Amino acid sequence: MTAAARKDPAAVENEVREKIHLEILKRTGAYHANDHILLPSGQHTTEYIEKTLVTTEPSFTEGLGAVIAKHFAQWPVDMVLSTGPAALILSHCVARAHPSRPTVIYGTKGLSGGKRRVSLPVEFQRLVRTGTKILLVEDLVSTGSTLNLLINLVEQLGALVVGIGCLWRRTSVELDNVYSLVSRDFPTYDPDKCPLCAKGMPLNEEFVRRRHARRPSSVQEPKVP
Ligand SMILES: [Zn+2]
Repeated sequence: MTAAARKDPAAVENEVREKIHLEILKRTGAYHANDHILLPSGQHTTEYIEKTLVTTEPSFTEGLGAVIAKHFAQWPVDMVLSTGPAALILSHCVARAHPSRPTVIYGTKGLSGGKRRVSLPVEFQRLVRTGTKILLVEDLVSTGSTLNLLINLVEQLGALVVGIGCLWRRTSVELDNVYSLVSRDFPTYDPDKCPLCAKGMPLNEEFVRRRHARRPSSVQEPKVP
């Protein structure tokens, strides 16, 4: 066997690490696999992440935050910026474990004039100065649009984005200096083309039902992997 045909040891190590991270997410109850799941979009898939459950186990969150911090330990960081309140627990754990002892701030998301916007509370805007080194932290990166809006925002304030740390990144998303504990995409199917439906596998509607129970039906939920 030639060296090229052998698997790169770093790639193997990454694969093993990713499996461990997936197992941790599974143990929090956030990650569901090998199922036939109805998504809020109406499409079907085999895997699903329940975002809100990701950080329910403090020791797991601390462990995962430390892994992200270790990756970025080689770069000085003044501030960890959470993409929103949801990723704040993870951001805290990353900041706590980073040798630079960065502070933690968060952005807020909203709609304005029909367009998605992100902003920083004014108290935080005062903290971001020219040359402030910022590490962004997100839980799930699905399209990267929130991150790109936040990067533009802090760069306009003169800050430098050191990198992006996240729990899960859909592999279709291209971003600079991103480190994710899990990089994984899974296929979604239209119901009439779904191979699981074709096999007659029962459809799990649990995640959609729960959302409907919580919210008025007229509210459109953004698509989550
Ligand atoms: Zn199906």
